[in-house]
Amino acid sequence: MDVVIIGAGYAGSLIASQLENYDIVVFDKNKKRKNKSVTTFREVVDEGAIKNTYSKLTFMNTKGTKVEYDFNEEIFAFVDYQKLCDSLWTDIEEKKVVSYDKKGVVLENGERIEAKVVVDCSGIDGENLRRNSGINIPPRLIYITYERVDRLNVPDDTFYLIVGCSIYGGWIYPAKPSEIGAANLFKRKENVYYPETTILKKSYPEIFVESEIKQIFKEVYPYGFVKRVVNDNVILFGDSAGLTHPMYATSIHYIHHASKPLSESIKSYLNGYGKLEEYQKWWKSSWISTRKLKSIQIP
Ligand SMILES: Cc1cc2nc3c(=O)[nH]c(=O)nc-3n(C[C@H](O)[C@H](O)[C@H](O)COP(=O)(O)OP(=O)(O)OC[C@H]3O[C@@H](n4cnc5c(N)ncnc54)[C@H](O)[C@@H]3O)c2cc1C
Repeated sequence: MDVVIIGAGYAGSLIASQLENYDIVVFDKNKKRKNKSVTTFREVVDEGAIKNTYSKLTFMNTKGTKVEYDFNEEIFAFVDYQKLCDSLWTDIEEKKVVSYDKKGVVLENGERIEAKVVVDCSGIDGENLRRNSGINIPPRLIYITYERVDRLNVPDDTFYLIVGCSIYGGWIYPAKPSEIGAANLFKRKENVYYPETTILKKSYPEIFVESEIKQIFKEVYPYGFVKRVVNDNVILFGDSAGLTHPMYATSIHYIHHASKPLSESIKSYLNGYGKLEEYQKWWKSSWISTRKLKSIQIP
C-alpha cells in the first residue's frame, strides 16, 4: 500500500482526490460525513455543494458596532459539508483506526495495514488516536456553541464575523436555515465553559427579533498550529494539524491551500526523487508567516 489516509472529512477527501493514481486506502469510522456548515471562498468549493453565496462580509463586535466590506461579487460561499466531501471522494472503508506508526496503521479489529505513507486527517475526533500514536496534543481548546435558527432579520448577501474580547468570537451565516455560533478559547485544565450567544442577542436585538432556534450543538476543538506535521512518513493534515479556526472561517481555505504542497511532496517521495520533509519546510514557512500576520497592528 502506498498511502493510508485516516479520516474522510474535507482534509482526507481532498488529499485522496489528489493521490487517486496511487495505491491508497481511506479509512473512516463513519462513512456518513458530519453535517457541518462552513463558509469559505466560493472558488475553493464545488458548485453543487453551495447553499448560499455572499458578496459582503460584516465584522461586528459585542457592543453593537458593525463594519461592512462590499466585494461587489459573490466571492464567499456557505457550504454543505457532506456534499463538499462527497464531491471529492466516496471510496471509503468504514473502519476505526486505533493507532499508527511509521510502518502503518492498526485497526480496531487488530488488523495491521502497512503503508509507505500515513496521513492522519482524523480531525477533532482523532485526539485519542493521536495520543495512542505518541503525537503531542495542542495545549489549547476552543469551546463552541452553535445554533440553527429559522429566520434572522438580516439581508442574505453578507455573513457576519463577530470580534469579541481576546477569547470570544463567532459568526452569523444567513441562509436557510441560518446559523449563529460563538467560540471561547481556553487552555486545557483551565476552568472552561461554553460561550453563550445571548451576549450577541442583547447587543443586536433587531437581528434576532424573529428567530426561532431549531437545533443547538456544542463542540470542543483542539486549537493551535502543530509545529511538527511530518514525523518520518507520518503526516498530520487538516484539523489534526491544528488548522482549525472556526471563529474566522478560514480552516477550509487553509486546508485547500496546504493540500497541493502536501500531495506534491507525497508523490515525489513515492516516485523516489523527493522527501516528505519538503512539506514540513513549506508548513513551517507558512506557519511563521501566519504568526507574523498576527503581529500586524491595525491603526
Ligand atoms: C461550528 C463550526 C463552524 C465552522 N465554521 C467554519 C467556517 O465557516 N469556515 C471554515 O473554513 N471552517 C469552519 N469550521 C472548521 C472546519 O469545519 C474544519 O476545519 C474542517 O471541517 C476540518 O476538516 P478535517 O477533514 O480536518 O476534519 P473532519 O471533517 O472532522 O474529518 C475527520 C474525519 O476523521 C474521522 N475519524 C476520526 N477519528 C478516526 C479514527 N480513529 N479512525 C477512523 N476515522 C476517524 C471522523 O469520523 C471524520 O470523518 C467550523 C467548524 C465548526 C465546528
